[in-house]
Amino acid sequence: MTTFDLQSAKRDVLDYCLESVKHGLNFNTQGNISIRIPGTETFLITPTDLEYDRMTVDDLVVVDADANVVEGHLQPSSEVTVHLAVYAHRPDVQAIVHTEPVFANVFGVLGEPIRGALVNMVIYTKGDVPIMPFALSNSTRFGEDMVAYLGEKNAVVWANHGLLTVGENLRDAFKTSIAVESAAQVLLHARSVTEAPIVLDYESLGITRAL
Ligand SMILES: [Zn+2]
Repeated sequence: MTTFDLQSAKRDVLDYCLESVKHGLNFNTQGNISIRIPGTETFLITPTDLEYDRMTVDDLVVVDADANVVEGHLQPSSEVTVHLAVYAHRPDVQAIVHTEPVFANVFGVLGEPIRGALVNMVIYTKGDVPIMPFALSNSTRFGEDMVAYLGEKNAVVWANHGLLTVGENLRDAFKTSIAVESAAQVLLHARSVTEAPIVLDYESLGITRAL
């Protein structure tokens, strides 16, 4: 078993923040990333109101399960309670990535679940990505409502806002964000040609590992 090193975990979180900018999943100060600190009731999360490409590892914040700051000089993301609700309801989840990518957001404003356009996307997400109707995201109530939409899946779109993905590690959670956004893009292109593109159904695929 590898021992957990907070400093290297902070560097990982920051790396994925920068990947998120590079892939166009975030703009301005929006989006947030967190991980569960193993063996504790604490969590590492990005701070509020700071651009990812101006962030350093020292700006990341450690919070407890009630969102109290345990370590850090900044306030945690305004959506910290949403992350905490997911960790409370999904013991399998070790990392959460919230982004605001364009194509996933198109499906959000249409109120239309993102169907399984690409095989790896549907394996990562565990099926169609549900859409949660618009609500303000900075409350515990929002988090509690959202986990009902997420269920046992790994992705959910918040209408008129963005995408949240979860995983057993940060790499998986991030890969799922990329996969959902690219599948949403493919689906929209396909829909400009036909009303009924061919999509995949997770249950009938019969596999759980990506290809
Ligand atoms: Zn957001």
